[in-house]
Amino acid sequence: MIKLHDKYFKPFISSQEIDAAMQRLATDIANDVGDEIPVFVGILNGSFMVVSDFAKKYPKPCEVTFIKLASYEGVKSTEDIQRLIGLTQDLTGRTVVILEDIIDTGNTLAEVHRIFENEQVKSLKIATLFYKPEAYKKDFKLHYIGIEIPNKFIVGYGLDYNGLGRNIPEVYQIKETQYMTNLVLFGPPGAGKGTQAEFLKTKYNLVHISTGDVFRFNIKNETALGMLAKSYMDKGELVPDQVTIDMLNAEVEKNSGAKGFIFDGFPRTNAQAESLDKLLESKDSAISAMVALEVDDEILVKRLLSRGKTSGRVDDADESIIRNRIKEYYDKTAILKDYYSAQNKYYGVDGVGSIDEITLRLDAVIKNL
Ligand code: AMP
Repeated sequence: MIKLHDKYFKPFISSQEIDAAMQRLATDIANDVGDEIPVFVGILNGSFMVVSDFAKKYPKPCEVTFIKLASYEGVKSTEDIQRLIGLTQDLTGRTVVILEDIIDTGNTLAEVHRIFENEQVKSLKIATLFYKPEAYKKDFKLHYIGIEIPNKFIVGYGLDYNGLGRNIPEVYQIKETQYMTNLVLFGPPGAGKGTQAEFLKTKYNLVHISTGDVFRFNIKNETALGMLAKSYMDKGELVPDQVTIDMLNAEVEKNSGAKGFIFDGFPRTNAQAESLDKLLESKDSAISAMVALEVDDEILVKRLLSRGKTSGRVDDADESIIRNRIKEYYDKTAILKDYYSAQNKYYGVDGVGSIDEITLRLDAVIKNL
Protein backbone atom coordinates (compact mmCIF):
# COMPACT_ATOMS: atom_id res chain seq x y z
CA MET A 1 0.00 0.00 0.00
CA ILE A 2 1.15 3.56 -0.66
CA LYS A 3 0.01 6.96 0.58
CA LEU A 4 -0.16 10.03 -1.67
CA HIS A 5 -1.25 13.22 0.08
CA ASP A 6 -4.20 12.11 2.24
CA LYS A 7 -5.20 8.97 0.34
CA TYR A 8 -4.14 5.33 0.41
CA PHE A 9 -3.69 3.27 -2.76
CA LYS A 10 -3.28 -0.48 -3.21
CA PRO A 11 -1.35 -2.32 -5.94
CA PHE A 12 -3.60 -2.89 -8.95
CA ILE A 13 -1.76 -3.54 -12.25
CA SER A 14 1.83 -4.78 -12.33
CA SER A 15 4.50 -3.42 -14.66
CA GLN A 16 4.58 -6.83 -16.40
CA GLU A 17 0.88 -6.56 -17.23
CA ILE A 18 1.37 -3.01 -18.47
CA ASP A 19 4.32 -4.08 -20.57
CA ALA A 20 2.31 -6.89 -22.18
CA ALA A 21 -0.58 -4.53 -22.96
CA MET A 22 1.81 -1.96 -24.44
CA GLN A 23 3.36 -4.65 -26.61
CA ARG A 24 -0.07 -5.69 -27.91
CA LEU A 25 -0.96 -2.09 -28.73
CA ALA A 26 2.31 -1.52 -30.60
CA THR A 27 1.98 -4.76 -32.59
CA ASP A 28 -1.69 -4.22 -33.48
CA ILE A 29 -1.15 -0.64 -34.57
CA ALA A 30 1.97 -1.48 -36.59
CA ASN A 31 0.04 -4.22 -38.43
CA ASP A 32 -2.86 -1.89 -39.26
CA VAL A 33 -0.77 1.10 -40.30
CA GLY A 34 1.22 -0.92 -42.83
CA ASP A 35 4.00 0.97 -44.58
CA GLU A 36 2.83 4.45 -43.78
CA ILE A 37 4.74 6.60 -41.36
CA PRO A 38 2.23 7.48 -38.68
CA VAL A 39 2.30 10.44 -36.32
CA PHE A 40 1.76 9.38 -32.73
CA VAL A 41 0.30 12.14 -30.63
CA GLY A 42 0.57 11.88 -26.87
CA ILE A 43 -1.69 13.87 -24.59
CA LEU A 44 0.32 15.38 -21.76
CA ASN A 45 0.89 15.12 -18.92
CA GLY A 46 -0.40 11.64 -18.19
CA SER A 47 0.65 9.93 -21.41
CA PHE A 48 4.38 10.57 -21.21
CA MET A 49 5.18 7.04 -19.98
CA VAL A 50 2.74 5.42 -22.40
CA VAL A 51 4.23 7.27 -25.36
CA SER A 52 7.80 6.59 -24.31
CA ASP A 53 7.28 2.84 -23.86
CA PHE A 54 5.06 2.60 -26.92
CA ALA A 55 7.61 4.32 -29.15
CA LYS A 56 10.34 1.94 -27.98
CA LYS A 57 8.16 -1.04 -28.87
CA TYR A 58 6.97 0.34 -32.22
CA PRO A 59 8.88 -1.71 -34.81
CA LYS A 60 8.82 0.70 -37.77
CA PRO A 61 9.57 4.35 -38.55
CA CYS A 62 7.20 6.82 -36.90
CA GLU A 63 6.92 10.39 -35.72
CA VAL A 64 6.09 11.35 -32.17
CA THR A 65 4.66 14.61 -30.92
CA PHE A 66 2.76 15.87 -27.89
CA ILE A 67 -0.16 18.10 -27.17
CA LYS A 68 -1.25 19.20 -23.77
CA LEU A 69 -4.73 19.10 -22.33
CA ALA A 70 -4.88 19.15 -18.56
CA SER A 71 -8.06 17.31 -17.60
CA TYR A 72 -7.60 16.07 -14.06
CA GLU A 73 -8.10 18.18 -11.03
CA GLY A 74 -7.83 16.01 -7.95
CA VAL A 75 -9.65 12.72 -8.07
CA LYS A 76 -12.47 13.42 -10.53
CA SER A 77 -12.16 14.24 -14.21
CA THR A 78 -13.41 17.80 -14.46
CA GLU A 79 -15.96 18.91 -17.01
CA ASP A 80 -14.22 22.03 -18.21
CA ILE A 81 -11.07 21.02 -19.99
CA GLN A 82 -8.23 23.38 -20.69
CA ARG A 83 -7.42 24.27 -24.23
CA LEU A 84 -4.94 22.54 -26.46
CA ILE A 85 -1.33 23.60 -26.40
CA GLY A 86 1.38 22.44 -28.76
CA LEU A 87 -0.08 21.28 -32.09
CA THR A 88 2.29 23.20 -34.35
CA GLN A 89 2.90 20.60 -36.99
CA ASP A 90 0.97 20.39 -40.27
CA LEU A 91 -0.80 17.03 -40.19
CA THR A 92 -2.52 17.29 -43.56
CA GLY A 93 -2.83 13.89 -45.20
CA ARG A 94 -1.20 12.08 -42.28
CA THR A 95 -2.24 8.99 -40.37
CA VAL A 96 -2.56 10.18 -36.79
CA VAL A 97 -2.83 7.93 -33.78
CA ILE A 98 -3.69 9.55 -30.46
CA LEU A 99 -1.95 7.79 -27.58
CA GLU A 100 -3.85 8.16 -24.33
CA ASP A 101 -2.93 6.84 -20.91
CA ILE A 102 -6.56 6.57 -19.84
CA ILE A 103 -10.01 7.21 -21.21
CA ASP A 104 -12.72 7.57 -18.62
CA THR A 105 -15.55 10.05 -19.25
CA GLY A 106 -14.28 10.75 -22.77
CA ASN A 107 -14.22 14.53 -22.20
CA THR A 108 -10.59 14.87 -23.25
CA LEU A 109 -11.32 12.77 -26.29
CA ALA A 110 -14.20 15.06 -27.28
CA GLU A 111 -11.79 17.98 -27.15
CA VAL A 112 -9.25 16.08 -29.25
CA HIS A 113 -11.90 15.39 -31.88
CA ARG A 114 -12.96 19.02 -31.84
CA ILE A 115 -9.38 20.09 -32.42
CA PHE A 116 -8.69 17.61 -35.20
CA GLU A 117 -11.92 18.45 -37.03
CA ASN A 118 -10.13 21.24 -38.88
CA GLU A 119 -6.92 19.34 -39.58
CA GLN A 120 -7.07 17.58 -42.92
CA VAL A 121 -5.67 14.32 -41.57
CA LYS A 122 -5.96 11.12 -43.58
CA SER A 123 -7.17 9.18 -40.58
CA LEU A 124 -7.46 9.70 -36.86
CA LYS A 125 -7.24 6.67 -34.62
CA ILE A 126 -7.54 6.51 -30.85
CA ALA A 127 -5.40 4.21 -28.72
CA THR A 128 -5.53 4.07 -24.94
CA LEU A 129 -3.71 1.97 -22.40
CA PHE A 130 -6.54 2.08 -19.84
CA TYR A 131 -10.25 2.35 -20.48
CA LYS A 132 -13.09 2.66 -17.96
CA PRO A 133 -16.21 1.41 -19.78
CA GLU A 134 -18.50 2.29 -16.85
CA ALA A 135 -17.41 5.93 -16.96
CA TYR A 136 -17.30 6.47 -20.73
CA LYS A 137 -20.15 8.73 -21.81
CA LYS A 138 -19.26 9.54 -25.45
CA ASP A 139 -19.78 7.80 -28.78
CA PHE A 140 -16.30 8.23 -30.29
CA LYS A 141 -14.83 4.97 -31.44
CA LEU A 142 -11.86 3.70 -29.47
CA HIS A 143 -9.70 1.83 -31.97
CA TYR A 144 -7.14 0.28 -29.62
CA ILE A 145 -7.66 -0.55 -25.95
CA GLY A 146 -4.93 -1.94 -23.72
CA ILE A 147 -6.69 -2.85 -20.45
CA GLU A 148 -10.29 -2.31 -19.36
CA ILE A 149 -10.57 -1.29 -15.72
CA PRO A 150 -13.40 -0.57 -13.26
CA ASN A 151 -14.43 2.99 -12.56
CA LYS A 152 -12.07 3.61 -9.66
CA PHE A 153 -9.35 6.21 -9.37
CA ILE A 154 -5.86 4.99 -10.27
CA VAL A 155 -2.34 6.42 -10.07
CA GLY A 156 1.07 5.47 -11.42
CA TYR A 157 2.58 4.96 -14.85
CA GLY A 158 2.06 8.62 -15.72
CA LEU A 159 -1.19 9.09 -13.82
CA ASP A 160 -1.21 11.33 -10.79
CA TYR A 161 -3.21 12.29 -7.75
CA ASN A 162 -2.76 16.04 -7.31
CA GLY A 163 0.68 15.91 -8.89
CA LEU A 164 2.03 12.82 -7.14
CA GLY A 165 2.38 9.25 -8.36
CA ARG A 166 3.28 9.78 -12.02
CA ASN A 167 6.73 8.24 -11.62
CA ILE A 168 5.52 4.93 -10.14
CA PRO A 169 6.21 2.15 -12.69
CA GLU A 170 3.07 0.17 -11.83
CA VAL A 171 -0.55 1.18 -11.29
CA TYR A 172 -2.24 1.59 -7.91
CA GLN A 173 -5.95 1.86 -7.19
CA ILE A 174 -7.51 4.07 -4.54
CA LYS A 175 -8.55 2.39 -1.32
CA GLU A 176 -12.05 3.66 -0.88
CA THR A 177 -12.54 2.59 2.69
CA GLN A 178 -9.58 4.09 4.44
CA TYR A 179 -9.64 2.27 7.81
CA MET A 180 -12.25 0.11 9.47
CA THR A 181 -12.40 -1.93 12.64
CA ASN A 182 -14.70 -4.85 12.00
CA LEU A 183 -15.38 -7.19 14.88
CA VAL A 184 -17.23 -10.46 14.92
CA LEU A 185 -18.65 -10.77 18.39
CA PHE A 186 -18.96 -14.45 18.97
CA GLY A 187 -20.27 -16.82 21.53
CA PRO A 188 -23.22 -19.09 22.30
CA PRO A 189 -26.71 -17.67 22.92
CA GLY A 190 -26.76 -15.96 26.31
CA ALA A 191 -23.02 -15.27 26.37
CA GLY A 192 -23.68 -11.53 26.69
CA LYS A 193 -22.87 -10.43 23.15
CA GLY A 194 -25.66 -7.84 22.99
CA THR A 195 -24.71 -6.28 26.33
CA GLN A 196 -21.03 -6.01 25.45
CA ALA A 197 -21.76 -4.77 21.93
CA GLU A 198 -23.49 -1.73 23.47
CA PHE A 199 -20.28 -0.79 25.23
CA LEU A 200 -17.97 -1.50 22.28
CA LYS A 201 -20.01 0.41 19.73
CA THR A 202 -19.87 3.59 21.83
CA LYS A 203 -16.23 3.28 22.77
CA TYR A 204 -14.99 2.56 19.23
CA ASN A 205 -17.68 4.41 17.27
CA LEU A 206 -18.81 1.29 15.43
CA VAL A 207 -22.13 0.28 13.92
CA HIS A 208 -23.66 -2.69 15.74
CA ILE A 209 -25.53 -5.18 13.56
CA SER A 210 -27.30 -7.97 15.40
CA THR A 211 -28.92 -10.29 12.88
CA GLY A 212 -31.20 -11.64 15.63
CA ASP A 213 -32.39 -8.08 16.37
CA VAL A 214 -32.95 -7.33 12.69
CA PHE A 215 -35.00 -10.52 12.33
CA ARG A 216 -37.03 -9.68 15.45
CA PHE A 217 -37.65 -6.17 14.12
CA ASN A 218 -38.95 -7.70 10.89
CA ILE A 219 -41.16 -10.13 12.78
CA LYS A 220 -42.62 -7.30 14.83
CA ASN A 221 -43.39 -5.37 11.66
CA GLU A 222 -44.75 -8.47 9.96
CA THR A 223 -42.57 -8.12 6.88
CA ALA A 224 -42.14 -10.99 4.43
CA LEU A 225 -38.61 -11.49 5.76
CA GLY A 226 -39.95 -11.56 9.32
CA MET A 227 -42.58 -14.17 8.48
CA LEU A 228 -40.00 -16.37 6.84
CA ALA A 229 -37.47 -16.03 9.66
CA LYS A 230 -40.05 -16.63 12.39
CA SER A 231 -40.70 -20.24 11.43
CA TYR A 232 -37.02 -21.06 11.98
CA MET A 233 -36.38 -18.82 14.96
CA ASP A 234 -39.28 -20.10 17.03
CA LYS A 235 -37.75 -23.57 16.94
CA GLY A 236 -34.23 -22.28 17.69
CA GLU A 237 -33.01 -23.23 14.20
CA LEU A 238 -30.88 -21.13 11.91
CA VAL A 239 -32.55 -19.06 9.21
CA PRO A 240 -31.33 -20.20 5.74
CA ASP A 241 -27.98 -18.72 4.70
CA GLN A 242 -29.04 -16.82 1.61
CA VAL A 243 -31.85 -15.03 3.45
CA THR A 244 -29.50 -14.03 6.27
CA ILE A 245 -26.64 -13.04 3.97
CA ASP A 246 -28.86 -10.80 1.81
CA MET A 247 -30.22 -9.13 4.91
CA LEU A 248 -26.77 -8.58 6.40
CA ASN A 249 -25.44 -7.12 3.14
CA ALA A 250 -28.34 -4.68 3.06
CA GLU A 251 -27.61 -3.60 6.66
CA VAL A 252 -23.95 -2.99 5.85
CA GLU A 253 -24.85 -1.00 2.72
CA LYS A 254 -27.19 1.19 4.78
CA ASN A 255 -24.15 2.29 6.83
CA SER A 256 -21.66 2.91 4.06
CA GLY A 257 -19.81 5.68 5.94
CA ALA A 258 -19.20 3.59 9.06
CA LYS A 259 -15.82 3.47 10.80
CA GLY A 260 -16.41 -0.23 11.29
CA PHE A 261 -18.96 -2.81 12.39
CA ILE A 262 -19.69 -5.14 15.25
CA PHE A 263 -21.26 -8.24 13.77
CA ASP A 264 -23.31 -9.88 16.49
CA GLY A 265 -24.89 -13.21 15.65
CA PHE A 266 -23.28 -13.20 12.22
CA PRO A 267 -21.60 -15.11 10.68
CA ARG A 268 -23.00 -18.35 12.03
CA THR A 269 -21.93 -20.67 9.19
CA ASN A 270 -18.91 -20.99 6.92
CA ALA A 271 -20.96 -19.78 3.95
CA GLN A 272 -21.89 -16.64 5.90
CA ALA A 273 -18.26 -16.07 6.91
CA GLU A 274 -17.09 -16.39 3.31
CA SER A 275 -19.77 -14.01 2.07
CA LEU A 276 -18.83 -11.50 4.78
CA ASP A 277 -15.18 -11.65 3.70
CA LYS A 278 -16.22 -10.96 0.11
CA LEU A 279 -18.46 -8.08 1.10
CA LEU A 280 -15.73 -6.43 3.17
CA GLU A 281 -13.13 -7.07 0.49
CA SER A 282 -15.33 -5.20 -1.99
CA LYS A 283 -15.02 -2.30 0.45
CA ASP A 284 -11.22 -2.67 0.65
CA SER A 285 -11.66 -3.88 4.20
CA ALA A 286 -11.61 -7.07 6.26
CA ILE A 287 -12.58 -8.59 9.61
CA SER A 288 -10.15 -7.31 12.22
CA ALA A 289 -10.94 -9.93 14.85
CA MET A 290 -13.38 -12.48 16.10
CA VAL A 291 -13.82 -11.90 19.81
CA ALA A 292 -15.51 -14.85 21.44
CA LEU A 293 -17.20 -14.88 24.84
CA GLU A 294 -16.69 -18.29 26.35
CA VAL A 295 -19.36 -19.44 28.81
CA ASP A 296 -20.30 -22.86 30.16
CA ASP A 297 -23.59 -24.39 28.83
CA GLU A 298 -25.35 -24.68 32.19
CA ILE A 299 -24.68 -21.02 32.99
CA LEU A 300 -26.10 -20.11 29.56
CA VAL A 301 -29.32 -22.03 30.14
CA LYS A 302 -29.79 -20.31 33.53
CA ARG A 303 -29.09 -16.86 32.05
CA LEU A 304 -31.46 -17.33 29.11
CA LEU A 305 -34.31 -18.70 31.24
CA SER A 306 -34.02 -15.71 33.51
CA ARG A 307 -33.88 -13.31 30.51
CA GLY A 308 -36.97 -15.06 29.09
CA LYS A 309 -39.00 -13.98 32.12
CA THR A 310 -38.74 -10.34 30.98
CA SER A 311 -37.65 -10.34 27.31
CA GLY A 312 -40.82 -11.87 25.90
CA ARG A 313 -38.68 -13.87 23.47
CA VAL A 314 -40.35 -17.16 22.58
CA ASP A 315 -36.93 -18.75 22.11
CA ASP A 316 -35.87 -17.76 25.66
CA ALA A 317 -38.92 -19.20 27.40
CA ASP A 318 -38.47 -22.92 26.90
CA GLU A 319 -35.50 -24.91 28.15
CA SER A 320 -35.59 -27.38 25.25
CA ILE A 321 -35.55 -24.56 22.67
CA ILE A 322 -32.67 -22.92 24.54
CA ARG A 323 -30.74 -26.20 24.53
CA ASN A 324 -31.46 -26.54 20.80
CA ARG A 325 -30.03 -23.06 20.16
CA ILE A 326 -26.91 -23.94 22.12
CA LYS A 327 -26.67 -27.22 20.19
CA GLU A 328 -27.07 -25.33 16.88
CA TYR A 329 -24.25 -23.11 18.01
CA TYR A 330 -21.89 -26.02 18.69
CA ASP A 331 -23.00 -28.06 15.65
CA LYS A 332 -22.96 -25.31 13.05
CA THR A 333 -21.41 -22.15 14.41
CA ALA A 334 -18.50 -23.15 16.62
CA ILE A 335 -16.58 -24.26 13.49
CA LEU A 336 -16.11 -20.58 12.75
CA LYS A 337 -13.53 -20.54 15.51
CA ASP A 338 -11.36 -22.58 13.11
CA TYR A 339 -12.19 -20.25 10.23
CA TYR A 340 -10.90 -17.18 12.05
CA SER A 341 -8.12 -19.01 13.93
CA ALA A 342 -6.68 -20.00 10.55
CA GLN A 343 -6.38 -16.26 9.81
CA ASN A 344 -4.94 -15.56 13.30
CA LYS A 345 -8.01 -13.51 14.13
CA TYR A 346 -9.59 -15.53 16.93
CA TYR A 347 -9.54 -14.13 20.48
CA GLY A 348 -11.27 -16.09 23.23
CA VAL A 349 -12.45 -14.10 26.25
CA ASP A 350 -13.78 -15.53 29.50
CA GLY A 351 -17.47 -14.57 29.52
CA VAL A 352 -18.17 -15.44 33.15
CA GLY A 353 -18.09 -12.62 35.70
CA SER A 354 -19.66 -9.20 36.11
CA ILE A 355 -20.54 -7.16 33.03
CA ASP A 356 -17.78 -4.66 33.87
CA GLU A 357 -15.16 -7.35 34.30
CA ILE A 358 -15.99 -8.86 30.92
CA THR A 359 -16.00 -5.41 29.29
CA LEU A 360 -12.46 -4.82 30.57
CA ARG A 361 -11.32 -8.17 29.15
CA LEU A 362 -12.81 -7.38 25.73
CA ASP A 363 -11.39 -3.89 25.71
CA ALA A 364 -7.90 -5.20 26.41
CA VAL A 365 -8.11 -7.43 23.33
CA ILE A 366 -9.49 -4.77 20.99
CA LYS A 367 -7.03 -2.07 22.10
CA ASN A 368 -4.18 -4.33 21.03
CA LEU A 369 -5.50 -5.15 17.57
P1 AMP B 1 -29.82 -14.30 18.41
O1 AMP B 1 -30.60 -13.10 18.83
O2 AMP B 1 -28.49 -13.95 17.83
O3 AMP B 1 -29.72 -15.35 19.49
O4 AMP B 1 -30.62 -14.97 17.19
C1 AMP B 1 -31.93 -15.48 17.36
C2 AMP B 1 -32.33 -16.35 16.18
O5 AMP B 1 -32.27 -15.60 14.96
C3 AMP B 1 -31.42 -17.53 15.93
O6 AMP B 1 -31.73 -18.63 16.74
C4 AMP B 1 -31.70 -17.81 14.45
O7 AMP B 1 -32.95 -18.46 14.29
C5 AMP B 1 -31.84 -16.41 13.89
N1 AMP B 1 -30.53 -15.91 13.43
C6 AMP B 1 -29.84 -14.83 13.92
N2 AMP B 1 -28.67 -14.66 13.26
C7 AMP B 1 -28.61 -15.65 12.35
C8 AMP B 1 -27.64 -16.06 11.39
N3 AMP B 1 -26.47 -15.37 11.23
N4 AMP B 1 -27.91 -17.11 10.59
C9 AMP B 1 -29.05 -17.79 10.73
N5 AMP B 1 -29.98 -17.50 11.63
C10 AMP B 1 -29.78 -16.45 12.45
